[in-house]
Amino acid sequence: MEGLIKQAARDLVESKHAIALTGAGMSTESGIPDFRGPKGIWTTNKKAEAEAYKMYELFLKEPKTYWVEISGSQGTYRKFYEEIRKAKPNPGHHALAELERRGILKCVITQNIDGLHIKAGNKKVLEYHGSIYKLRCISCGSRFGIEEVSLDELPPLCKCGGVLKYDVVHFKEPIPLDVREESEREALRCDLMVICGTSAVVYPFADLPIMARFGSGRLPLGLYVTGHKTNVKIIEVNAEPTPLTQEGVSDYLIQGKTGEVLPKIVEEVKKARKI
Ligand code: NAD
Repeated sequence: MEGLIKQAARDLVESKHAIALTGAGMSTESGIPDFRGPKGIWTTNKKAEAEAYKMYELFLKEPKTYWVEISGSQGTYRKFYEEIRKAKPNPGHHALAELERRGILKCVITQNIDGLHIKAGNKKVLEYHGSIYKLRCISCGSRFGIEEVSLDELPPLCKCGGVLKYDVVHFKEPIPLDVREESEREALRCDLMVICGTSAVVYPFADLPIMARFGSGRLPLGLYVTGHKTNVKIIEVNAEPTPLTQEGVSDYLIQGKTGEVLPKIVEEVKKARKI
């Protein structure tokens, strides 16, 4: 593993446009459980998974009931979101913030809704699945901080008359176009992608490494459109192999905890740059 950590540091120092992709595994060391890891919420509670799949439909059909479930004192989501709000960034988040401060990392695209990259100090963060700190209008797409909107009347409404929902993207809900387009631009442009703490099975997010590697997304039947780009380095930092490891999309996997591996990479970057 030490050899791969040095190699990742070298690759980062030599890169021109490095970006990070992150998932729930990044925040388990901050006390927020992931979904599909060995101790994940859904690995241990299949009913919670089934419920999560219904949330977007519930919002469309009965926005008031959705809001009661998500913010009411009996709602399971309220407890989960309150726990998340108490969490603090861990050494893995701080390592990515340090790489941005050093001008190496140009952008973080995260599936996480916990806001921990922003709390750690990263400035360019694309929250692909939204954030628990924001609400979004499903008609005009405007976003508001949670403190800006009163929840006395449910569902809350936008100035345009549209219904507001949590910015968090639920299953079967389309990714907001602004964040999706910017993430795809970053994936096509980068020459290094470091993928941290994700099982890489949630689409369309899991298409981003495929776009970086092949210059295009996945076609039906798992076929790829164009050739393998050899001038892009794709590095995974994850507790276990993923489909990206198994299908050869990533160049190498550093198997371990993001909170331990990423700070070691930063130490090697400092040595390589002698600062
Ligand atoms: P996932 O649960 O599907 O996969 C997490 C992966 O990270 C697993 O492969 C697991 O083995 C690995 N992992 C766990 N702890 C790790 C650690 N300390 N270091 C390295 N690897 C570790 O998560 P996903 O791929 O992000 O997809 C799940 C969806 O759930 C995402 O859409 C995300 O929005 C949402 N989610 C977010 C949070 C959060 O905001 N913190 C928490 C749970 C789920």
